[in-house]
Amino acid sequence: MNYTRILVFGAHPDDEIRMAGTMAKLSAQGVQVVVAIFTNGSEGYPHPKMRDQIVELRRKEMAACDEVLGIARRIAFDIPDMGLVNTKETLKRCIQAIREVRPEAIFTHGPVDRHRDHVATHDLSVEATWHAGQPVATELGSPWKTPHLFYYKATEGLALPSIVFDVSKTAHKRPEALATQESQQVLFGRTKAQFLEEAQRMNEAGERHTERFWITDRTELSDFPPIS
Ligand SMILES: [Zn+2]
Repeated sequence: MNYTRILVFGAHPDDEIRMAGTMAKLSAQGVQVVVAIFTNGSEGYPHPKMRDQIVELRRKEMAACDEVLGIARRIAFDIPDMGLVNTKETLKRCIQAIREVRPEAIFTHGPVDRHRDHVATHDLSVEATWHAGQPVATELGSPWKTPHLFYYKATEGLALPSIVFDVSKTAHKRPEALATQESQQVLFGRTKAQFLEEAQRMNEAGERHTERFWITDRTELSDFPPIS
């Protein structure tokens, strides 16, 4: 994780929180952490009366999450929830984001998922990582080859090597980040107070915590130090 810039793709506001401990740790070390979220979370309203406010609510919750995790910049593609499709236009926006950020590592969803937006996020981000490094569509920025591509979720049953990253000192940032996602807590089954309580407990307990990342076949394994 010896990076200066990373880019994390997520389908919905809050998907990226799966790797909260890593983002918090890296940002505290001075790494520029950029998150790109494809959809606006517009279907994530637990009560019909929240329907008209949900996009605005989720925008505010994303900003609060950025504060907690030290996310330097968030790119919102603002595509309707449950409506993400691998179109040429969205692929180009994705290529443009990669070329702007110029990350050394991209983190995205794996392919094994039942949510259509998650599968589309996987398809778009993996393809865009490759296209971004090719001398094509250069009105979208200078080509940028991202050396490392990882999956942070949706990898069940895949035969891929993985790395385990120690997040013992920042694992409590995950419940703290989930506490900011107030509109989603019916779905999560926990309240803001419960998340904050958990964050405090974890912070004080001094336990060992890790986050796992799967190394895709787009990553050159020779870039990693030898296993001793
Ligand atoms: Zn999602």
